[in-house]
Amino acid sequence: MSLLTRDMACQELVELVTAYFDGSLSRSDRRRFRAHIRGCDHCTAYVEQMRQVIEASGRLTEEDVDPRAREELLEAFRGWSEAR
Ligand SMILES: [Zn+2]
Repeated sequence: MSLLTRDMACQELVELVTAYFDGSLSRSDRRRFRAHIRGCDHCTAYVEQMRQVIEASGRLTEEDVDPRAREELLEAFRGWSEAR
């Protein structure tokens, strides 16, 4: 799967997750975001995890996303796309 396709890539979703929750995504990005989640168990789990962070803290900022966890996730995404 190429990052240049119209479909949202896992990595892009991870980048956009804070914007998704604070409502700053454009309508088309929001639609692509939701469409991606429907077809991707990994991102469903990631978004659910972020939702729990928001429920616990009342907000989500870039600083709330553990950079190490985020890096590990992006590593995992790279592995998945290479496996395809
Ligand atoms: Zn995904």
